[in-house]
Amino acid sequence: MPQDASIPAAILSSTTISNEDRYSRQMLFPGIGKAGQQKLASAHVAIIGVGATGAASASLLARAGVGTLTLIDRDFVEPSNLQRQVLFDEADALESLPKAEAARRKIALFNSGVVVHAHIADLVPANIAELLSSADLILDATDNFETRYLINDFAVQQAKPWIYAAAIGAYAATMNILPPGCTPDPLSPIPVPYSPTACLACIFPKPPTGPVETCDTSGILSTAVNLAASIQVTEALKFLTGQSNLMRRSLLSFDLWTSERSEISTSQPRPGCTVCGQRQFTHLAGEGRPHITLCGRNSVQIHEHHRPVDFSAMRDRLSPHGTVRFNDLLLRFERPPHTLTLFADGRAIIQGTTDVTLARSLYARFIGS
Ligand SMILES: [Zn+2]
Repeated sequence: MPQDASIPAAILSSTTISNEDRYSRQMLFPGIGKAGQQKLASAHVAIIGVGATGAASASLLARAGVGTLTLIDRDFVEPSNLQRQVLFDEADALESLPKAEAARRKIALFNSGVVVHAHIADLVPANIAELLSSADLILDATDNFETRYLINDFAVQQAKPWIYAAAIGAYAATMNILPPGCTPDPLSPIPVPYSPTACLACIFPKPPTGPVETCDTSGILSTAVNLAASIQVTEALKFLTGQSNLMRRSLLSFDLWTSERSEISTSQPRPGCTVCGQRQFTHLAGEGRPHITLCGRNSVQIHEHHRPVDFSAMRDRLSPHGTVRFNDLLLRFERPPHTLTLFADGRAIIQGTTDVTLARSLYARFIGS
């Protein structure tokens, strides 16, 4: 058929990909089918952290046809991310594009039918309800237990399921959390009865000290990240298609280098758990954490004041003191040995130190207090 010369080629190509075609192989899989595919299209998943695991999980969910994704990340793309963070490219790293926005743009290139809400933000008690309330399922792709405890508090309080995932070295770990009272199939008119699992605090009353939670890591294999994401997203697909009865009820960990595997049962909440048993949500009630050392990054995040920043005015102010570049999303101020990256909400990441006192003084001196 001859093409209509008045219609640009890009529009023609984007309108010729049907969902029947796009998802044909996935719908052939008996666990999904046409009915499952329709449920995925109306589902909404939030991913906390769009680094290695989060980018892989976001890519898998978007390609699988999950209709709406909320992506939350506080960081920007760096060259050292490209080895394992599958949604980013060299241009993103050279531009220091915020990861949430870079991920949104990349997903639009391979599945324009997915609605992506990108939030360049740190998940804290003050914004968690606004960012996560409308999601059917929450995927953890953070690098720290403080945020995971916050997610756990919110998920248990709101009876919303979430999936823990972590990767370090050649090691991946993941666990499904189905809190008491959680509706197993939010998209089904007939709720399927199920018993709740342990929550994160049942299994880890205190942050673990094992290899997964060590900031001073010597490295990570991309394959470990993709294993964690693959398991996490497969469990998500079971939940979103109304098959929570098939979800694994264990904390699973696997070392791809040594092939060591371990599994701890999570099928029962721990009696006396302060979160899911006594419903004490101390992380949710906290003030958040404006000043933190970023895991393994030689960087500190500072959030001294919450007000919009005028990047043009800031450029004029900072130019006499160092090199300044900015775009719509962030401002980069280089003054060796430190680099200060300022976001539109006043939050900053200061690279070149892990000393919070020094970072705070740099912020006060150059950004203001
Ligand atoms: Zn618990």
